[in-house]
Amino acid sequence: MTIKENKDVIFEELHKSLEAAGRNENSVTVIGVTKYADIDATKELIEAGIFHLGENRVDKFLAKYHALQDKELTWHFIGSVQRRKVKDFINQIDYFHALDSINLAKEIQKRAEKPIKCFLQLNVSGEESKHGFSPDELDDIIPQLEDLDKLQLVGLMTMAPLDANPETLHNIFKETNHIRQELQSQNRKNMPFTELSMGMSNDYPIAVQNGATFVRIGTSFFK
Ligand SMILES: *Cc1c(COP(=O)(O)O)cnc(C)c1O
Repeated sequence: MTIKENKDVIFEELHKSLEAAGRNENSVTVIGVTKYADIDATKELIEAGIFHLGENRVDKFLAKYHALQDKELTWHFIGSVQRRKVKDFINQIDYFHALDSINLAKEIQKRAEKPIKCFLQLNVSGEESKHGFSPDELDDIIPQLEDLDKLQLVGLMTMAPLDANPETLHNIFKETNHIRQELQSQNRKNMPFTELSMGMSNDYPIAVQNGATFVRIGTSFFK
């Protein structure tokens, strides 16, 4: 199938999930994850109407960022990253989805020239291979982030295990939304916590049913 045809299938599926959840049609933003795509395929994705793009590697992000300078794009950095690389990309992106340590937060504070919209990455499932804070660390972490005015904590990001069954997926996404609501209700400085970045090709319908406002989809566009 073409990228445009894949996009139509994805948006039809999204539409159904939003409807099932009683949610507004425009309440989810689709991030096209281009880590598997070359420049030409990425241009095709843009032509199909996807203007939010996500990359998880600094070098590949920069290559696309420069090649696509003439387009009106919103860039999301979605992968975990070493501290020393922050300065190479932080001022080129709009959203950072993988805030997983205090040291990384401090480096962003030091290097960012304007506030960056950040998602705290949460490891809800407890998988050791996954990055992110565990839910019970948050009471300690959140106050330490409050004075970092270059980080605007817009929400939580999570990744579910690839082999999780639907019930487990529902539980993980529901819990993430629950924690987000609790953080939002604290009304802290620079921490609106209105957004949820969750859902990938294999689980985005379930993520949307549980409140995702950004889904990160790669494979389903480029198969
Ligand atoms: C690759 C990646 C995605 C997209 O995954 P697909 O299964 O290809 O849709 C989403 N989020 C992150 C953090 C990724 O690294």
